[in-house]
Amino acid sequence: MRVRVPFGRATKTAMVVALAPGDGSPGYRLKSILEILDDGPVLPPSMLKLLQWAAAYYHHPLGEVIFGCLPPPLRQGKAPVRMDVSRYHLSQAGERVKTEDLARAPRQAAMMDFLRRHPGGADAAQLRLLDARWRATLRALAAKDWIREEKSGLPPATVKEPDPTYRPFALNPGQTEAAQAISGALGRFGAFLLDGITGSGKTEVYLNVIDQVIAQGRQALVLIPEIGLTPQLVARFADHVQAPVAVLHSGLSDRERLHAWLMARDGEAGVVIGTRSAIFTPMKRPGICIIDEEHDPSFKQQEGFRYHARDLAVMRARQEAMPIVLGSATPSLESLHNAGQGRYERLVLRERIGKARPPAIRLLDMRAGRDDNGLSSALLQAVGAHLAQGNQVLLFLNRRGYAPTLFCPGCGWIALCPRCDAHMILHRARNRLHCHHCDTQQPPPAQCPQCQASGLLALGQGTERVEETLQGLFPGTDIIRIDRDSTRRKGAMQALLKRVRGGGPQILLGTQMIAKGHHLPGITLVGILNADQGLFGADFRAIERMGQLILQVAGRAGRADKPGEVCIQTHYPEHPAFSPLLAHDYGAFAHRLLEERQLGQLPPYGNLALFRAEALDQALPLRFLQAVHEQAMTLSLEGVRLLGPVSAPMEKRAGRFRAQLLLQSLRRRHLHPLLKALIPILDGLPGARKVRWSLDVDPQEMF
Ligand code: ADP
Ligand code: ZN
Ligand code: ZN
Repeated sequence: MRVRVPFGRATKTAMVVALAPGDGSPGYRLKSILEILDDGPVLPPSMLKLLQWAAAYYHHPLGEVIFGCLPPPLRQGKAPVRMDVSRYHLSQAGERVKTEDLARAPRQAAMMDFLRRHPGGADAAQLRLLDARWRATLRALAAKDWIREEKSGLPPATVKEPDPTYRPFALNPGQTEAAQAISGALGRFGAFLLDGITGSGKTEVYLNVIDQVIAQGRQALVLIPEIGLTPQLVARFADHVQAPVAVLHSGLSDRERLHAWLMARDGEAGVVIGTRSAIFTPMKRPGICIIDEEHDPSFKQQEGFRYHARDLAVMRARQEAMPIVLGSATPSLESLHNAGQGRYERLVLRERIGKARPPAIRLLDMRAGRDDNGLSSALLQAVGAHLAQGNQVLLFLNRRGYAPTLFCPGCGWIALCPRCDAHMILHRARNRLHCHHCDTQQPPPAQCPQCQASGLLALGQGTERVEETLQGLFPGTDIIRIDRDSTRRKGAMQALLKRVRGGGPQILLGTQMIAKGHHLPGITLVGILNADQGLFGADFRAIERMGQLILQVAGRAGRADKPGEVCIQTHYPEHPAFSPLLAHDYGAFAHRLLEERQLGQLPPYGNLALFRAEALDQALPLRFLQAVHEQAMTLSLEGVRLLGPVSAPMEKRAGRFRAQLLLQSLRRRHLHPLLKALIPILDGLPGARKVRWSLDVDPQEMF
């Protein structure tokens, strides 16, 4: 239960997690609790157990773990109460209005249409997804007396167009087998790796199993990657499932989030869908946990409490005696290894549904042709051919902005970020130099600040520049750029995707934002403009990520009955990572990487923990981590290797110098006791107060 306690001269919200016998430890004077905030436990015992396990495993303070996973109002000590959700309906007068009468007010027309299709009314969460300025639109309609407002205790809902034609599919034999294997484990722990290529019907398998979970009166928790939570996916669940669906998306207000959380905790939500942090949503009758696109890096929290939602989910499923399903077309090496060891049961779906054939993948050798705009002549030919057939093209470049380097040919000056070891990225439309690491922005200089020469050159390609090039090469073609710059405005992403779904010859150009989740059936050609970024990334997972990305974007092509094609531009076509990808053989690709990992004793064969430290003074982080190293040496080091300390690959970031110390071990049981012994003494080490340090257990990124 939460309590209010005195803390210094202020008070704080705290959580009682256990009762100590007697008066507490000697040498302490106990103060009294000021107020008990809950009538009963705010979290079920199983959730507290999970959080305690997580705090111990990630060596993170339990208080931060607990409060970090509560909905904000509970964190602030507010009461766990539902909200009155206003639902908006058409009034009788509103029902008589014809859409044509509103031709000059398209937002109002759209909202009237939406309400007409939702006879049960719509709430703020729904209207906000429909119209970024929904309040103003609604007010205009209410002023004409076309709207009726009603308070109800119903949950903030998902966007759901009731689809009268909806009928679940009859599963094909592969799907049936997978669904039966999972259903057979309902009511107990069981871990499944659903390894199925894109479009093989994994989501349909989830839905089928969820039906059975709900029929048993239990609940399902579904986690999806950060950018995979699209209204279409939510609608698919909402259409299918015969129970309330609580969606935890980033657009919810704090109170809406609490409401959805309470519905899950109290057993009213049949399905809970959310991103990473939804793993901490308690359920009264846990029935199954599903992690879609389990390989996705967004399941790892990269700051503060650095947990991995997939790994926590497996532990949670074990503790709550429910099955867990990890689904992916490109499983993580960790999960493949677990399946290989027999810890997970592997279920394979190898066929695409319907006529869709997997696209042909080929490499375009960038050494062959001239490459001054990032687009090889072979790729441009293919783009032209697909457009001529009335199809859509998706071009993928993981670098936004105009150009990554602004350079003076006279003296060699390069625009660098004053606060980071990084180039400033030139953004032409905003006319800014922008550092993507610390957000520093400045106007680009007209002349070289070093030699005063004019004629600075923009070198290299970003999405903004490729868009400009394409406009010149394919005049009259609709070119849609999707990256963080073009989707900053609320609702912009949905509007752009709507344009794509409208069909017609189009070029869609984007960063990894478009690599997953979106079903874009008109696309027949996918071009990957710079695969080499992935081949030579600083991180040992770079190639794994590149392969996953290539097969994921390849999964976007040719989903309908039109055959697809994927072109990968590279300067290193002979790189051994490519050949299994060309054959769509993710298994062989992963197998090669697993062998390399085994040789290097890297995950999933070895276990890693990374200490990071940063400070304004360059020498301090290294000195502090050196002291950590020395401390570790005095403790038992059996089976643990210490690597470093070294400066981080990007040493200076946002004005701070960074260093790291890596601990590597073949056995968790060697690594964790050492971490446990180290943590309490770190703050007492010399220099500890002048650095910010953190520990990342099972780090996903090494910088
Ligand atoms: P995945 O999640 O593996 O990418 P989906 O479940 O989205 O695959 O299925 C791909 C497409 O095939 C979807 O449009 C889905 O509606 C359709 N589909 C899935 N299973 C069946 C089935 N058994 N019969 C007919 N269509 C199906
Ligand atoms: Zn110069
Ligand atoms: Zn910077």
